[in-house]
Amino acid sequence: MVDTLHHHQALVDLAKEIDAPFFFYDLDVLQSHIKTLQTLPVTLWYALKANPLSAIISTLDDEGMRFDVASIGELNQVLKQGVNPQNILHTGPAKSYEQLGYFIDQGVRRFAIESTQQLQDVQSIANEKQVHIDVLLRVQLQWHDGEKNVLGGECVTPFGLSPNDWILYSKNHDLDCPYINILGFHCFQWGNILCIDKLERIWFTIADALHELAETMGIDLRVLDLGGGLGVDYQHEGQELSLAEINALLLKLKSHYPQTDIWLELGRYAVAKCGVYVTKVVDRKTVYERDMLVLAGGSQHLMRPTLTSQAFPVSRLRESSAQLSKMHLHGALCTSLDYLGEVQLPSDTKAQDHIIFHYTGAYGFTESMPFFLCHTLPAEVTYNKGLIKILRKAEAAGVWLK
Ligand SMILES: *Cc1c(COP(=O)(O)O)cnc(C)c1O
Repeated sequence: MVDTLHHHQALVDLAKEIDAPFFFYDLDVLQSHIKTLQTLPVTLWYALKANPLSAIISTLDDEGMRFDVASIGELNQVLKQGVNPQNILHTGPAKSYEQLGYFIDQGVRRFAIESTQQLQDVQSIANEKQVHIDVLLRVQLQWHDGEKNVLGGECVTPFGLSPNDWILYSKNHDLDCPYINILGFHCFQWGNILCIDKLERIWFTIADALHELAETMGIDLRVLDLGGGLGVDYQHEGQELSLAEINALLLKLKSHYPQTDIWLELGRYAVAKCGVYVTKVVDRKTVYERDMLVLAGGSQHLMRPTLTSQAFPVSRLRESSAQLSKMHLHGALCTSLDYLGEVQLPSDTKAQDHIIFHYTGAYGFTESMPFFLCHTLPAEVTYNKGLIKILRKAEAAGVWLK
């Protein structure tokens, strides 16, 4: 993770120079993390939605990661960084005929197919253009754990089709199309998993169900794409997946199913810890005995606490020997939804101090709602082998308001 003590002076200088909230990414930390991830016995894709910043893409590309992209905007961004289209997989529930055609024209040959419409569209485009396409059929299983999360968990979602839907389709349609090669299945319904036993249950349930489905449908299952979902311990619950545990679980899965290659598309686990977000305290006050800090930035740049009711780990930029005390963090939006959680910070924290939010390399800037109330957009800064670059300046609302 980003060593904020090591970067202390740089962060102090940046806070002064930028004079607005900013994200700071340590690309050296990212690079060494990706090097270790690449030792896992799987094919790794990076889910671009976690953070599409150019410098992050280039760092991952240099380490041999491939890219899972879900929109034309994401595709153009990875191509702009020189990523080989062979290393791109197109996932996502909304793929129009035109979009599929655009991806194929750009040289993308791998698609996770989420509906029968998508399958027919990709078949017809591949036939017309006479190009060979590899596809994974996305499957949505039913779970009975009584849990929910943003990817649906046991809810019914637009991600893929049920096994029965695919079986029914395969009975009434010819899956054998000369230009379409069905590599296997894709199944991803659980996010931010922290417990290896839970991950083992999920992965084995999926692997067992999808091998059975492949047999029923007469598909040679060469690839099983288990998506993302490896978690980050935002709340210091003391539980986090170690690389050794993940490696052992993958080997176990592979020993059960030696003919099947496993693909993972990692977002959070790949990039969360290479980033921090820094914002200034504007005010401190006590309202009905509740000690609160009002910050310049908040959910307009970091939506996760609002979406999940979980706080990020935080620390204060200015060093302090004061004891920690409980505070509530609020952002600058005129809605009580802009609440970043209850945290422990030095008791002498005051206006003009800066708060550092950790693990914000994933699902930060592009997941947020930066336009609401016309506050300044956050800057994005990279650190790479001693070099600090402001890739995105903090922009005032006048730049984009019409
Ligand atoms: C979001 C997403 C991922 C990445 O999820 P993480 O939980 O961040 O690892 C992977 N695959 C697909 C299809 C996704 O939509």
